[in-house]
Amino acid sequence: MSRFFTETMSALEPYTPGEQPQARVYTKLNTNESPFAPSEKAADIAREQVRALNLYPDPDGNQVRGRLAEIYGVKPEEVLLGNGSDELLFFAFRAFCGADRRAMFADITYGFYPVFAQLNLVQYTEVPLDEELNVRLESFDDPAATVFIANPNAPTGKALPGEEIEKFAASRPEGLVVVDEAYVDFGAESCVELTKRYDNVLVIQTFSKSRSMAGARVGFAIGNAALISDMNTIKYSLNPYNINSMSLAMAYGVLCDEEYTSKNCRTIMENREYTTEGLRKLGFEVVDSKTNFIFARHPELDGAGYKDVLKEKGVLVRHFDKERISEYNRITIGTREQMDVLLEKTKEILGV
Ligand code: PMP
Repeated sequence: MSRFFTETMSALEPYTPGEQPQARVYTKLNTNESPFAPSEKAADIAREQVRALNLYPDPDGNQVRGRLAEIYGVKPEEVLLGNGSDELLFFAFRAFCGADRRAMFADITYGFYPVFAQLNLVQYTEVPLDEELNVRLESFDDPAATVFIANPNAPTGKALPGEEIEKFAASRPEGLVVVDEAYVDFGAESCVELTKRYDNVLVIQTFSKSRSMAGARVGFAIGNAALISDMNTIKYSLNPYNINSMSLAMAYGVLCDEEYTSKNCRTIMENREYTTEGLRKLGFEVVDSKTNFIFARHPELDGAGYKDVLKEKGVLVRHFDKERISEYNRITIGTREQMDVLLEKTKEILGV
């Protein structure tokens, strides 16, 4: 640390991303990416953009916004694009939390929430999941707080029904509910419809998972025009050109090839059921998942130990050294072949 780093910022505990190894090829099941390359049609459109890189991108990404608005039945001014959904979550913490509005989120959820709260100098409360790792909305008891719910939740993979979120939002009109739907396309219910009826619901989604674009960094928020305008104030105070033109072109292309996305989601869901069953047969306890990952533990395996031995055998999974979940590993669902490698290596480890 330099002697110039401010005392406040030097206290930050930054987010630790999952490993992205460059030197060795692994069966990579640790960061919830899609195993499928992005749509070829989309790649062709993005390639065309290389020739236009001398120009700045459209700061509003109007082509992509317009297409998203069509797909979700909202107006373009109710959509905002971000450099990954992470950036939009940052905007939401910046815009909607402060001295008079604390942030609230589950104690076991996406690890970036406490980091964004700290970076924005926002007070926050972590609300415990119940024994079965469910989010209990009735425990979010500050009616003015900005509540962040990952739905489905990560790393558990569990989802709340839209109806429960609606009741919750309706019961606290003075508090904003931000629903992070990074994994919603793998079988959960989206709250986008709620944004049309409730001015205190904001939905954030991503192109990183179901749309195979983690490397391109594009996410989007949907909410009423006033919420989106507030987030735009933050964006235009930081970096108007937050998404590069190749990523914008790619995102547009992906939205024009929705059949490819839904086919991949169906495959991932099938592979998820296959892997869940395979691991359960080996004695694992596997949480029922609505995402492109599963959360699993085995009575005879130490969580961190299993992750380390899998790595030696060429398979990466994600372990969180955190109270209540340290026996578990989060395993991304990949292709059938990748999941067979995981099951084979696991059998070797168990000696069965
Ligand atoms: N929300 C959740 C719950 C996530 O797991 C992730 C992925 N790490 C993100 C948001 C951010 O995804 P991205 O920035 O790639 O859109």
